[in-house]
Amino acid sequence: MKLAHGLAIKESPINGKGCFATILFPHRRKIAEYTGERITNAEARRRASRRKLRICGLDERWSLDGARGGNGTHYINHSCQPNAFMMSTRGHILFFALRDIQPGEEITVDYQVTWHDDDKRCTCGAEKCRGTINKKQK
Ligand SMILES: [Zn+2]
Repeated sequence: MKLAHGLAIKESPINGKGCFATILFPHRRKIAEYTGERITNAEARRRASRRKLRICGLDERWSLDGARGGNGTHYINHSCQPNAFMMSTRGHILFFALRDIQPGEEITVDYQVTWHDDDKRCTCGAEKCRGTINKKQK
């Protein structure tokens, strides 16, 4: 696996392995692009039912599976109080820093919606953890 610049994969207190910064990512600055195999959402749903989720939705039709061709960003764990956010734009998924992220910090985003069931428990440990990874639909 070829990691994106400034990233390292280590054991995470949140869940399995996580993605950690090895350099300072300043507030609002791009961290990396999510890379992976391009698959249909139907295929994403099938894969998500069989193994740990490393898949990221791109749009209504397509998803990216970082388990194949990922650059480390697919290890970014969910947190209800994240230090980064994900933005999909013109067929690309980019991660940006929500605040200054120091070397050694685990990078986290709020997944909001995943291919997992809505009752998938969250273990992020944040003070304001909402209890589930998916945001409740209104
Ligand atoms: Zn949480």
